[in-house]
Amino acid sequence: MSENFSALLYLAASVCFILSLQGLSSAKTSTRGLYFGMVGMGIAIGTTLLSPEVTAFALTFVALIIGGTIGTVIARKIQMTALPQLVAAFHSLVGLAAVSVAAAALIEPHSFHIGQIGSIAVGSLIEMGLGVAIGAITFTGSVVAFAKLQGLVSGNPLIFKGQHLLNALLGIVLVVLIIMFSLSESHTLFWSLTIISFVLGVLLILPIGGADMPVVISMLNSYSGWAAAGIGFTLANNLLIVVGALVGASGAILSYIMCKGMNRSIFNIILGGFGGGSDAAAANGSGQQRPYKSGSAEDAAFIMKNAKSVIIVPGYGMAVAQAQHALREMSDILEQEGVEVRYAIHPVAGRMPGHMNVLLAEANVPYENVLELDDINRDFKTTDVAVVIGANDVTNPAAKTDPQSPIFGMPILDVEDAKTVLFIKRSMSPGYAGVDNDVFYNDNTMMLFGDAKKMCEEIIKAIEE
Ligand code: NDP
Repeated sequence: MSENFSALLYLAASVCFILSLQGLSSAKTSTRGLYFGMVGMGIAIGTTLLSPEVTAFALTFVALIIGGTIGTVIARKIQMTALPQLVAAFHSLVGLAAVSVAAAALIEPHSFHIGQIGSIAVGSLIEMGLGVAIGAITFTGSVVAFAKLQGLVSGNPLIFKGQHLLNALLGIVLVVLIIMFSLSESHTLFWSLTIISFVLGVLLILPIGGADMPVVISMLNSYSGWAAAGIGFTLANNLLIVVGALVGASGAILSYIMCKGMNRSIFNIILGGFGGGSDAAAANGSGQQRPYKSGSAEDAAFIMKNAKSVIIVPGYGMAVAQAQHALREMSDILEQEGVEVRYAIHPVAGRMPGHMNVLLAEANVPYENVLELDDINRDFKTTDVAVVIGANDVTNPAAKTDPQSPIFGMPILDVEDAKTVLFIKRSMSPGYAGVDNDVFYNDNTMMLFGDAKKMCEEIIKAIEE
């Protein structure tokens, strides 16, 4: 295939990826976005395979079959609740690929048309140095993020004295090593900077607490994009540069949006030490017994049936219980009874960006009934019932009132402003950030203890009866 023709096809693939990102920006157009992504990737792989440099067809085919099969099996089996750690695991592979390509280019530069051993151009060495550093940090950082989200290591921030100083020192050493490597093509320097980057990846993610994980995942997503762009420069592949930059930039923008959603700065998050589990709960005094009201599905059915307006606030527990279909059925029945039902979505509800939107879309909840925090928050004041289903942190007023709280500064859904608040959850346990929620104990709150899906089914039965 001529070089011009393959450049044209790569351009077509790039346009598909841009349209894919645009489609994925809203739940309504996300399926179209996925199709554009698949077509773009098909064109990209086909064009690469038809380029004259690709001769190892058998090996490539075997790799495609193995990778494709693993991807298909994982995609079909994965639970929605485990998607964040899956994303982290996939990012780690992009990082490792960047490290492998940089190492291969250093060992066999002639295969990459970047000169001979000992006389690689300085520009290529800089690309390699940067690519391997970002790739290695992405790899180990993503592995740690995966281990934290999977519960293999504690989700609490792991902090030790002098940590930030050590990270800063390692960062400076890394920059010096990249410069020295670019000027010398020394293999020892290359492997040293690779090892330091691996260590830095671990040290950067370890101190970050559970509640900041969404931003970390999106940051690692951004790093993996820049690592891919680095590979693109080494391989002189324009498509990889464009796609890497798209992923890098969109991940960075998403991180910024999420930081805004949690009212935190990116530096504050990178410096770590936020969020966690039981320690934070204990510190918050959740061990104390305080009076609260609990009710049954029949009570909830009665309250909701007699309401004019209901706002449903879904959270992580809805995903765990896979309650979205039962919830949709419950809303349909309430609407038939003349109740206005809307859904309020917090930007970090669940365990990944857009988690709740995906689940509600799966249950065919009409998009126009699903509103973002800024668009619905002031409506709680005029709403009869707020139904919080498997959510906790995203409704916790400590984020506004308690400067000591690990979630202080995060905007929350003001459910307590509704006339009545119903919390569907299994116990009085706190949520992801480990912080007790004062709204549980308010006079206008009723706790409905049970699995979210089962409780919705019981409420449906009670309304129908
Ligand atoms: P939370 O983790 O604060 O609360 C979820 C609640 O769901 C728990 O209190 C739990 O209570 C309840 N629950 C669990 N299983 C069930 C079930 N089967 N049925 C009913 N209830 C259940 O979730 P939120 O969505 O309110 O907040 C998200 C938190 O996660 C934030 O702190 C956010 O920063 C963090 N996070 C968000 C990510 C994202 O990208 N969205 C990624 C990673 C973390 P009980 O045990 O009593 O049932």
